[in-house]
Amino acid sequence: MAVLEIRKYPDPVLKTKTKVVRSITAETKTLIKNMIETMNAYNGIGLAANQVGIPLKIIVVSKRTESEKTNDTVFINPVTLAKRGKIFEEEGCLSLPGLSLNVKRTKYVKVKAINERGKVFIIEGEGLLSRVLQHEIDHLEGKVFIDRLSFFSKLKTLREIKRRKKTGTW
Ligand code: ZN
Repeated sequence: MAVLEIRKYPDPVLKTKTKVVRSITAETKTLIKNMIETMNAYNGIGLAANQVGIPLKIIVVSKRTESEKTNDTVFINPVTLAKRGKIFEEEGCLSLPGLSLNVKRTKYVKVKAINERGKVFIIEGEGLLSRVLQHEIDHLEGKVFIDRLSFFSKLKTLREIKRRKKTGTW
């Protein structure tokens, strides 16, 4: 197993719409193991494959989010089946280190996916699990959380990133 390099915004792979996984090979399983190890090494609660440079529809979610409900922490080809309610809370991302901003999300989400053994499952989440799933599924669509900010907040954040890049703190 290995801790992989996390791609930082604005790496193009983070803006890439990822591809559907057609078959779960030994290579896919190794990638998943490494993604879990990477997420834990960085103390993250979720990670999408394109954050480690692989444009495939795979996400891993930490058990710390309440997903012990089903024990499923690997989501291959996740699809959102339903969403409802609204929340506006602070969010961060391993690809945008040190930034933490309020983002609009839905309170509840229902997601269908395949686990690493090829079994289809459906999971419903509220609270942290719901936020993490929405955040990670956005990654697979080539979106990061600052894309969900208002025009002016995003502009301000992009300026801040530029400043940090200049000072070598990004
Ligand atoms: Zn993220």
